[in-house]
Amino acid sequence: MIPWNSIDSFPGNHTDAELAMHRPCPVCGIDRPTEVLCMPAFQFFTDSADQPKRVDIRQVQCQECRALYLESAYTVKGFQILFSEAGCSYGATDGRAGEQLEWLDSHRLLGKNQSLLDVGCYEGRFLSMMPDDMQRIGVDIDGPAIERGRKTLESRGVILIQGDFNQVKLPEIPDTITMFHVLEHLPDPLATLANLRCQAGDKTRLVVEVPILEKGFTNDINGFFSAQHMTHFSRQSLSNLLTRAGWAIDEMFEQPDYNGCRVLAKAAVPTATLISNAEDDTTLQRLLAHWHNATAGVNQRLAWLAETEKIVLWGGGMHTEFLYQHTDLFNADSRRFVIVDSDPIKQGKSWRGIPILPPEHLEEWKNETFSMVISSYAGQNSILRSALSMGIEDNRIVRLYDNFYLY
Ligand SMILES: [Zn+2]
Repeated sequence: MIPWNSIDSFPGNHTDAELAMHRPCPVCGIDRPTEVLCMPAFQFFTDSADQPKRVDIRQVQCQECRALYLESAYTVKGFQILFSEAGCSYGATDGRAGEQLEWLDSHRLLGKNQSLLDVGCYEGRFLSMMPDDMQRIGVDIDGPAIERGRKTLESRGVILIQGDFNQVKLPEIPDTITMFHVLEHLPDPLATLANLRCQAGDKTRLVVEVPILEKGFTNDINGFFSAQHMTHFSRQSLSNLLTRAGWAIDEMFEQPDYNGCRVLAKAAVPTATLISNAEDDTTLQRLLAHWHNATAGVNQRLAWLAETEKIVLWGGGMHTEFLYQHTDLFNADSRRFVIVDSDPIKQGKSWRGIPILPPEHLEEWKNETFSMVISSYAGQNSILRSALSMGIEDNRIVRLYDNFYLY
């Protein structure tokens, strides 16, 4: 028997004031936001009557410097609760690590006896790929991740420190500091950059990489305004933040088909004057139009389901919440759903009342009547292959994307 259920049939989900906090613009410090995008009562992963897992996600633009950011921002406790089922900490260097290391090497930052500090190192995987004759230090707020990293990396001379980026004291001045896809996750990125600046020497080089607005044109419904990110940088707002924290930019580096903007900077005198760039507004309007178009495309695919009453969703992660927020998939009252997901953290639980089970169940369900929706962006094609191999016919599987861009 398939345990079908209807949407929002779990009564206990709720929010709590401790999850989020008000903050002024993280780039210029002034409190003059206007709303760009809102997702009310956004649910983070599985249902819970005990823990608050819903917050209003409000993306805003600063009217002073045009920076884009999440307001309210998650508190430390809020982040821990909301992202406990996200699967991985920030510092998503997977897949790019090889290219990032080559780039550091080409800039002579991986030499013998040099020291490198990786901020947001998680378990230290990136550091573990660097030469052993370097001094490698990592810092992360995630205590268990640091503990796991120490078990394998301490014997190789890698030092891992658990600490708050805004306060951590370094054992010595590093030659290089790296922050790959970390800054956009922080509630107060200025404080972090300023703390690192205080502990940097004249020769210290800072390498920062963040996704930027100009490269955020994706067809993913999850989009540029990711719920994981607390600041949505543009080239200008990244540059403003760095100069305000006392870092002078030597080089800005971007690659085709990749959303990251990488900056090489050196310590300088902090600058109070920020540039408000009107081009950011034009880019934002274009990006929002592009994203609305992409969302309309996804909705069109879902319209193919028409009168279908029973739907298996493959994927119980954040992508499914985005479908809830932006499409009509869940709007038909008579529809019943079940979710399959290969993530053991989610199995046996539910999302908005819909049970989440291991995908292996599909083998026993394949002769039942239902349609399947693949609720994943980057994972779409591998899920499709798995579903077909389990005997689900191609003509009852809805794919939401024609192609995907790595970003
Ligand atoms: Zn601002």
